[in-house]
Parts: sequence; C-alpha cells; structure tokens
Amino acid sequence: MVGNSGRERPLVLVSNRLPVSLERRDGTFHARMSSGGLATALSGVSEDAATWIGWPGLVVDPSEEAAVERALDEHGLRAVFLSHHDVEHYYHGFGNGIVWPLFHYFTDRVIHDREAFATYLDVNHRFAERIAEEAPEGAHVWIHDFHLLAVSNALRQLRPDVVISFFLHIPFPSSELYRMIPQREELLRGMLGADYIGFHTHDYARHFRSTCLRVLGVGSSPDAVAFGGRRVGIGVHPIGIPVDRFEAALTSDETTRYIADLRERYGGRKVILAVERLDYTKGIPLKLRAFETFLARDPRRAREVVLLQVLVPSRLDNPEYQELKREIDETIGRLNGDFGEPGIAPIEYLNRSLDPHELVGLYAYADVALVTPMRDGMNLVAQEYCLCQSLHAERTERAPGVLVLSEFAGAANSLSRALLVNPWDVEGVADAIEEALSLSPDERNLRMKTMAERVRHLDCHRWGKEFCRSVERWVEEESNRESAPRLGRSASREIVRRAVEAPRRVLFLDYDGTLREIVSHPDAARPTDEIRKLLAHLASMPDTEVHVVSGRDRRTLDAWLGDLPISLCAEHGFYTRPRGGEWRAAHHVDLSWMQAAEEVLRGIVEEVPGSHLEKKSAGLAWHYRLSDDDYAEWRARELCAILSEEFASLPIEILRGHKVLEMRAAGVNKGSYLRERLDGEPDDTFVLCIGDDRTDLDMYAAMPPQGVAIHVGSEGDGMDYRLDSPREVRDFLRTVHAAIVDSATAAAGPIG
Ligand code: UDP
Repeated sequence: MVGNSGRERPLVLVSNRLPVSLERRDGTFHARMSSGGLATALSGVSEDAATWIGWPGLVVDPSEEAAVERALDEHGLRAVFLSHHDVEHYYHGFGNGIVWPLFHYFTDRVIHDREAFATYLDVNHRFAERIAEEAPEGAHVWIHDFHLLAVSNALRQLRPDVVISFFLHIPFPSSELYRMIPQREELLRGMLGADYIGFHTHDYARHFRSTCLRVLGVGSSPDAVAFGGRRVGIGVHPIGIPVDRFEAALTSDETTRYIADLRERYGGRKVILAVERLDYTKGIPLKLRAFETFLARDPRRAREVVLLQVLVPSRLDNPEYQELKREIDETIGRLNGDFGEPGIAPIEYLNRSLDPHELVGLYAYADVALVTPMRDGMNLVAQEYCLCQSLHAERTERAPGVLVLSEFAGAANSLSRALLVNPWDVEGVADAIEEALSLSPDERNLRMKTMAERVRHLDCHRWGKEFCRSVERWVEEESNRESAPRLGRSASREIVRRAVEAPRRVLFLDYDGTLREIVSHPDAARPTDEIRKLLAHLASMPDTEVHVVSGRDRRTLDAWLGDLPISLCAEHGFYTRPRGGEWRAAHHVDLSWMQAAEEVLRGIVEEVPGSHLEKKSAGLAWHYRLSDDDYAEWRARELCAILSEEFASLPIEILRGHKVLEMRAAGVNKGSYLRERLDGEPDDTFVLCIGDDRTDLDMYAAMPPQGVAIHVGSEGDGMDYRLDSPREVRDFLRTVHAAIVDSATAAAGPIG
C-alpha cells in the first residue's frame, strides 16, 4: 500500500496462528506453509507483506526457540512463543472459552477461568512487543481476530509511528452481551488502540459503536468512534472466497469424474448438502430436527431425498465438543433408524475433512445447500456453494440448486436471494426445505445468478487489497483533517518560555472535556483533587488570572470550584463571577423565546429515551449522550433544522456540541466573555485558552494575536495546537506552573 509519502507502506500481518505447519524431524524443525483459512483469505496481500507474526502452533522448550525461528525465517515469518499455561488460559480459556461463546450469543457456554484474562492480556502484550521489534518504520500492522483484541492499544504505546488496523472475523455482539465481560472496558480500549477496525457486516459495526457508547461513554458516527482525541475508523468489509481456486478445482478431471460418480450413486434422489465444522454455533442438532420434521410430514421422502452431512472434526480435545459430537451421531443414527429402509438412509454422514475435488464436486452436484448456523460471523460454505452451483450450471446448461441460509449468518447480508430462515423455527426450516425442492428452474436461475455475482465481487483477494486501501485512505483523510499541529515538545517549550517571560498571564480554561474527562452523566464529572490542586497552583502564580469558562450552570461551578481563587464564567458567559467577587448576570438579554423552545425540547426528551433537558438561565440544552446513537443523531439533525426555521426571527443561537444541542440567547457566548476580560489588556500579556468543543471555538476567535489557543481533539478550527486528552492538558499546565515557579525562585535569588 502507498503511504503519505507516496512510497509503499510495508505491511505486517498478525494473527494468533501463523499460516504454517511446524514439524520436528531428525532433531530439527521444518516449517511448511499451510493453506486454508486466514492464509487463503490474505493471499491477495500476504505476498507483498514484510512479515507475518504469530504463534507457530507448537509449544517448544525455550532452548529450541532459536531453531524454530530459523525454520520460520525462510518463509518470512516471526514467532510469538506460547507456553502450555498460555495455551490453556489465553487461547482456550479466554479466547475460545469466553470471547467465542459470548460473541456468538452462547452465554451458557461461557467458561469461567480466573486466570484467563490476565494471561490473555499478557500474551497480547507479548504480541505487541514482538510486533514493535519487527515492524518497519511507518508500517501498516494488520491484526486479526478475537484472540488479539487487546494488541492494538498495547502496540500504540510502544510504536506510535505505525498504522494499526484490526479485523474481527467473528460477530461483534449487541452491547447487552458484550457488557457481561468483567474486563469489558479494558478489552474495548484495547481494540480502540487501532486506527481502523473492520467488521463483516453493518450490524457488527453498529453493535460495536453502541458498545463504545454504553461501556466507555464515547460517541461515534457511522464511520468512526471518537476516542482519546483520535478518530478510530470503522469499516464494513465482508470477506469472500478465492474465486479462482474454486474455478480451477471445479474444472479438474478429478472433480468431473467425482461428479459423474455422484450422479450414478444418487440417481433420481435429491441431494441436500450440509458442510460444517463441529461447533455449537453451527446449529447442527436444530437442523437435524428440521430435517426430521420434513421427513415426518411425509416419510416417503426418505427415498426421494438424502441429507449429506459433512462434519469436519474440530476441537475434539474439549469435552463440550465431544458431547456435541455424541449428540449429532446419536440423532443421525436415530433418524436413519426411524425413517430408513434396507439400502436407504435418509442421512449420509461424513465425519472427516474432504479433499478439494470432493468438496467442490458436492457443491456442484447438490440440489440444495442447508446452511443454518445459529450465529456465524460470515459463513463461507454458503458462498462456495453459490459459486460452484452457478459455474456448474453454466457448463452443463442445467438450472442451479437452491441455498437455504440462516439469517443469523453474516453471509445473509450479501446472499439475500437465498431462502432465508430462522434456525430456531424448526417448522419454518422444514418449510424452506420443501420450498427449495420445488422452486421452478427459472426462479432458481434468477436467485443463484444474483448471488454468484455477489460472491465474485466479494472475492477474498480483492477483500485484502480493498481493506488495506481503506485503511490508507482513512489515515490520510485523518491527517488532512487535523487543521492544527499537535502540541509537541518544542512548541510546548516555546509557549512555556513566553508564559515565563510575560509580565502578566491570563488563562481561560474550559472545564468538561478539557480539564476533566467526559463521563457518561454530566453530574459525575466533579473535579478530582488533582484538578482542584492544579487550578489552585495556577492561580497562585504571580501576576496570573485563571478563568474557568464553562457551559455549566453557576450553582454547579460554585459548588465545585467556588472556593478557589479563580474567576468563573457559567452558562457560556451569561453569569460571571470575578475572583473573590459576586455572580453577575449579563444585561439586556431577550429570553422571551425560552418557554416555546422548552416545550419543543420536552417533546423530544419524551421521544428519545435516555436523553434529558438541561435548563439554564439563558438557554436550554438537550443532552443525548446516553441515547441510541444513530437515532439520537438523526433526531438532533432534524431538530436543528426545525428550530432554526421556527425561531428564525428571534435572538437565538442554536449550537450542536458533543451529543448536545444547545439553544442560547444570541450574543452571550464564551467569546464575548473573553473580549470583555481582555479589553484594555496590554499586548505583552500572555493569553492562553484551552477548550474542546464547538462552544469553545468562540473563545479561539476572540483571542488576541499574541494568544495561544489549544484544542483537545481533532475536530474544530481556529486553534493553534491540538492535544489528545484532558490528561495531556493537565500535564501541560503543570509544566507551565513548574516553569513559572522555578523562574520566580531563581529571580528571588539564593536563600540565606
Ligand atoms: N472446508 C474444508 N474442508 C472440508 C470442508 C470444508 O476446508 O472438508 C472449508 C470450506 O471450504 C470453508 C471452510 O472450511 O471455506 C468453512 O468456513 P465457514 O466460514 O463456512 O465456517 P468456519 O468453520 O470458518 O466457522
């Protein structure tokens, strides 16, 4: 991919497992690249990748690690080594035992393992360390899947120069499920360390955004989550299959012979194909019940139709999977016993992996594919069936078969011309099997043609390249958006020098989002001891005025900060209180519009759950930080348009801030407060203002030429510098204070 400089940005791939099978032979290690799974999916980009980092799949003694590294090096791979303890608690414990079931909505399968999270974090940090060692300067590091949720943030701390992207290959669940994880905040912050996060479907992206809101209180737009002063890009990238490989496999002689065999074997019987890995998410027992219902409706069907169940063994070291396998074996045995006849079994069962020619042969031959997972991130079998059916139908000039697909598979979003079913609705699935077997050739043609086109479009070679391009576009757009530079060390030193040398200093500081982190409810944002101490220290500097300039009401500011030797400005300038003085209201403000506006806003509070109205002396604020994001943003946009029209002739300003819509009396704002305070101030006074949202832009506009405006976050204009968080603001202010105290001490000369 091409970076800002126009040069290729090196790509580093990271996954739990390396695409390799490692063998110990003759006292040494041999690595063979393996195909399938992620290796196939990434084949579009992996050849150009600088390296691939992951676990080689074997637990080795530390004394053998160097030998393994040498074997991997031939293939450009780098290892993160895991101990048996890591495999047990990170891989099986937290990854497979907690994240996998929970993200697939199987709360009852979650296994509680006390050591799991600590080990998971530890391994994720070791991944970050290894990436930090290996990634070339400015590389794009693409991290994959649910075993590595916390790597992005750890890597960002170690290597701020690299571009980090993350792709989740499984569903991201509704926040209701996600929030059951005890370490939900830490895990989410781990993901948000990335610059860009990709999901298979819009639903997963939507769940992720609402989880960010509910768990961390951070807002988002459809394409980004605002976090830590950055915008983390959100993209929907449904993965596909390697179309060329399936085309080649389908036309091989071996496959042609195999299809001819199948025709001979099944003759006039219709074949329903099911292919899945042994996993509870695949809903195999439910599907067997649906097939049983289908047979029970007319037992003669056992002669006309056969269900070919391919079950690829998986995780058989786990007792739960052994139990599931037993259940499937027994059910198939029972159904064949109940509905079969000598020489006729309604279900044929293959409990093994298939060779490629068998798999594509079955895809091409089967009349129906029954793909009914209870939850599946994407599901490639459905796509593979559509492609093979359509190719085979073209070659043989026969009408293609029919896909019956669970609406709980990510693939249902792309393959909407399938017969979509709810796998829990056993009767409904049985109906769909009947319908699939009776659809007209024209209807089958039409459905399959549209789906095969879609599958070609989703091709995984394109997917990888397209993902990397999206990441690059995102990073470039974000760097262009940043209208002001970050306040780096040298600029910070220069500002501090000016502050020290000036005869007088005036500081205007916004409160929420600037001095204090935004929290989910405004009442919870009381100043910490650290903030109060900082303000007291700043106010104690010689010849210095400190103003806290806020949109909050005066009672709150009084209660929280009233005892400090600073000036307060409440409600964006409507009420002011000079240091040591009394509160004063702004004069000549027309508030005749307030009552009518309040009625409109009360109406919207009722309609948007979780939102509330704040009444101020000279304005109203509708807060929707805790509401459903999409819905509330939509209503806010609409409301803004309605209010601007209805109140057009009145002296009102309507402002949209972070998850808040404000109406306030015109002419009363933070900018007018600054202008009044700075009237008559000599040119050599050092003036600093720091803010974080739209209402603070008025302050920046009112700054004198020698003033310095700093903004927290990347959105906004008129500021000179940016910082990422209130913590950085406090650190910077502490530096200013320390420098001024030092210079005052030095000026006083040695004591004694
Ligand atoms: N597959 C395979 N060997 C088999 C049967 C299936 O390699 O014997 C492949 C199949 O071609 C598909 C993958 O396994 O690409 C299953 O992917 P899917 O997304 O359907 O389910 P997952 O197992 O990843 O949850």
